[in-house]
Parts: sequence; C-alpha cells; structure tokens
Amino acid sequence: MAEHYKPTKYKAWEMTIEERFSEYHPPFTEREAKAEANRCLYCYDAPCMVACPTHIDIPTFIRKIATGNVKGSAKTILESNILGATCARVCPVEVLCEGDCVLEEDHKPIAIGRLQRYATDYASERNIKFFSAGKPNGKKVAIIGSGPAGLSCAGELAKLGFDVTVFEKQKWAGGLSTYGIVVFREPVEVSLAEVKAIEALGVKVNCGVEIGKDIEFDQLIADYDAVFIGVGLGKVPPMAVPGENLEGVLDGLDFISATKTEPLGTIKHGNRICVIGAGNTAIDCATIARRLGAERVTMIYRRSEAEMPAYHFEYQFALNEGVSFMFLTQPVEVVGENGKVTGLKCVRMDLGAPDASGRRSPVPVADSEFVVPCDMVVSAIGQTKPFSFITALAKLGLKDVKGYIKVDPATNKTDHAKIFAGGDCVRSHGEASTVMAVQDGKIAARGIYEALLGAKSVKIPAASKQ
Ligand SMILES: Cc1cc2nc3c(=O)[nH]c(=O)nc-3n(C[C@H](O)[C@H](O)[C@H](O)COP(=O)(O)OP(=O)(O)OC[C@H]3O[C@@H](n4cnc5c(N)ncnc54)[C@H](O)[C@@H]3O)c2cc1C
Ligand code: SF4
Repeated sequence: MAEHYKPTKYKAWEMTIEERFSEYHPPFTEREAKAEANRCLYCYDAPCMVACPTHIDIPTFIRKIATGNVKGSAKTILESNILGATCARVCPVEVLCEGDCVLEEDHKPIAIGRLQRYATDYASERNIKFFSAGKPNGKKVAIIGSGPAGLSCAGELAKLGFDVTVFEKQKWAGGLSTYGIVVFREPVEVSLAEVKAIEALGVKVNCGVEIGKDIEFDQLIADYDAVFIGVGLGKVPPMAVPGENLEGVLDGLDFISATKTEPLGTIKHGNRICVIGAGNTAIDCATIARRLGAERVTMIYRRSEAEMPAYHFEYQFALNEGVSFMFLTQPVEVVGENGKVTGLKCVRMDLGAPDASGRRSPVPVADSEFVVPCDMVVSAIGQTKPFSFITALAKLGLKDVKGYIKVDPATNKTDHAKIFAGGDCVRSHGEASTVMAVQDGKIAARGIYEALLGAKSVKIPAASKQ
C-alpha cells in the first residue's frame, strides 16, 4: 500500500528544537484579548456554558476581560474549575464550548480557550490567590493519585474544611497534565503551578508513595474518614506481536513523558518512525516525533480514516506536521537485525461486519503482508484499565463496569461507603478528558461532604457532554 505523504506546512528546519516545543498558540496580548472579548454576544442561557463540563460562567468571565477586570475574570473561571489554566490549554474546545458558540455557524466562534488562558495566566503570574482553606471540620480524606481528578477533589475538599492528603506514586504531581500532555500544548510548569495552588490550601501532597505497595489500601481506609481514587489508567498494553522487545520499540506514554521531563536535545529518536494507533495519544506521539526531527513518521491504523478515534482537528494538525497515515493496515511483527528494529511487518485489512462498538471490524486480507522499513516503533494503542485496583478492592465490595470502577454519577461514590472515585478510572463510556476528570473531582468532593457531614452542600450540575 502506498504511503500518501502530504506537503508539510511545518518548517522544522527554520526553528530551534526549543521553539518547536514551546507553546503552540502564543498568548493573547491585552489588545487582542479585549478585541476578542468584545465580539462575544453575552448570550442568555449561553450554549458555551452548557457545553462546558465544569459549567464555567463563560459570558461573565469574557465580559470581565472586555471591561478590564482580568483578575475578576480569573476568579469566575477558577470558582468553577480550579484547574482552569490547564483546561484553557488542553480542552478540546472545538467539540465543547467553542463548538457550541452561537458565532460558530456564521462567523468564527469566540476563542474561549485562549481568553481563559489569558485570564488564568494573569492571576498565576501575579500570584493572586482567590481561595483559602475552609474552617476545619475534623474530617480526614486521602486522595490516591494527583491527576486532574485527584487535585480537583483535593482543592474542593480543602475549601470545605477537610484535612486532605494526596498520595502520588510519581516523583512529580499533576498526573497526565505533568507527564502525558505534549509540552507544546501544556508546559510542565503550568501543571506544577496548579499543584502549588492546591498545596497553598493546606493540602499535603506526598509524591513517591504508591498505594497498594508502600501503603496498603486497608490501612488507608482505616486511617481516613473517606478515600478518593483518582488513579487514571495504566501504561500502553503490549501489542502482542513478535519482536516487540527489540531495541527501538517504545511505549507511547514513555516517549511523550521524556519530552516533558528530559532535556530535548538528549531524547533518542529514530529517523523513520512507525506509530501504531490512531487516537489522540498516537497523534501526539507522531507530532512530537516530527518535532524532534524524524524525517518520516507514519501512523498505522487497522481501520479506515472514518473510524479513527482521534478528533478531526488533531488529524488535520498531524497532517500539517507532515505525518503520513496508513489506514486498513495491521502490524503483525516488529522485524529487526542485531536486536534493533529495522521494519514493521503489516497486513492489509478490509472492513467486515460491525463489532460490539458499532464500528465495522477489520478483517485481514489473505497474502497481503508487507514490511514498512523503520528504525523506531512507538506503540500508542490505548492504556490498560485499573485492573490492580479493581482486584484489590473487589474484596471490599467495589464493583466495576467493563473494567472501570463503578460509581454513582450523582456523588461518585463506589459500592463502598467510604470510597469515592473519578477521572479516567471510572470513564467506562464517553471521552476521557481533563475537564471531565476535574468535574468528577468536584462531584466527589460534594459527595464526601454530604456523606461525612450529613448536610447538602452547593449543588454541582452533572457534566453535560460525557
Ligand atoms: C498522551 C495523552 C494526551 C492527552 N491529551 C489530552 C488533551 O489534550 N486534552 C484533554 O482534555 N485530555 C487529554 N488526555 C486525557 C487526560 O489527560 C486524562 O483524561 C486526565 O489526565 C485524567 O485525569 P485523572 O486524574 O483521572 O488521571 P491521571 O491524569 O492519569 O492521573 C492519575 C494519577 O494517579 C497516580 N497513581 C496511579 N496509581 C497510583 C497508586 N497506586 N498510588 C499513588 N498514585 C497513583 C498516577 O501516577 C497519576 O499521577 C490525554 C491523555 C493522554 C494519555
Ligand atoms: S455562545 Fe459564544 S457568543 Fe454566546 S456567550 Fe458563549 S462565547 Fe459568547
């Protein structure tokens, strides 16, 4: 099958590696932000606000920018979404708030994400603090995992007067915002600044502590009044093809993490790279491979373009970066010489009858094997489900839905009275995203408040787009 290389608009050779990995969208200047804010119609029953899973009062924060009250604008954002600076950068706004903006049809939707970034950066750069710890209520809560779900839950609980401790197995807190989201979308510093803001509310963040290994679940449950599980998902699962242990085969998440935590010039990469998968993580791996300087990056996907799980705008982004795609292609073996990758053996596929997901299932075409020459293979075929937690907690009565922790969506309580959960580890359906994890953390915080203090707190609307 021929590879269809599209002309690249990305002139890597004209930029330094640091420039290639700096934030993709430049920040708004004051003039640009005011001009953009003044385009907003301040709609009654604003659809943008309904579309935001955390229900930020978007017309109000935009109006405050238009009138020069940028500090007030940041407060409006952070009241609904304590990780507003991250979400301003990583939210798929094209399918959320901006996708539902009334100006989308006739003109250009308001650049809500960039305005949100303008306001939250203004507050962060000036170290403006809007919240403080609530009056102590005598209750202790443990949070497992410091990703967006855990941090959001921790921050909301601290504001309500809980004594909160977060346990994180990695060296740094922030979850995938720190380690997984490509640096030109979210620099590590933005995520770490949000961790600091949560710590400033009195939350203790204990990094390098793995629950289930360094501290047993039973111990945690005995020591705390409630436990929130926000452990996300696991590593990329094995491809289960021969040759995947050859030098030059990489886990896509490790590849991305290296570009966030190691000096860019020291990251090893191939020159002809095959990326397996066609979701948003695979797109991220392919685009960073190009930006690191790989000459040819080919994404390999067993279904067709119509079934690819990546957002359409991400697909377009990858095409613009000079990434090529081989659809209806299934890897069957990583081939190599002297222990190193030299190619990826694939078969062509046809689409057969729809499977359980409703998508037509790929069927191998007989005698269609061919080898794509390459010196590196990056696997980005998804993340493993939280099996170890489900197994360990099943004895406590926790149940699962298709391998994800089962919760009551109104409170995010599990089947155990003391245990709540949220974020990717409960996302058995719908898009797993940062903003959904933030909303889960908020819902669980209110659920914990009501369970432990027996009082109704502020009602949090359910997330709209799941
Ligand atoms: C490559 C990639 C790119 C993405 N890009 C985007 C994007 O652009 N926009 C977007 O909205 N979403 C994006 N997502 C999805 C988004 O990052 C997740 O939906 C979000 O981070 C989920 O938050 P979480 O808190 O549930 O889990 P995570 O962010 O995964 O955090 C879980 C944390 O729990 C810790 N942990 C796990 N087990 C233990 C344990 N036993 N003890 C202690 N700590 C533990 C982990 O180390 C981790 O820090 C992306 C995901 C990936 C993989
Ligand atoms: S839908 Fe668009 S125009 Fe209306 S309030 Fe929201 S951002 Fe402004």
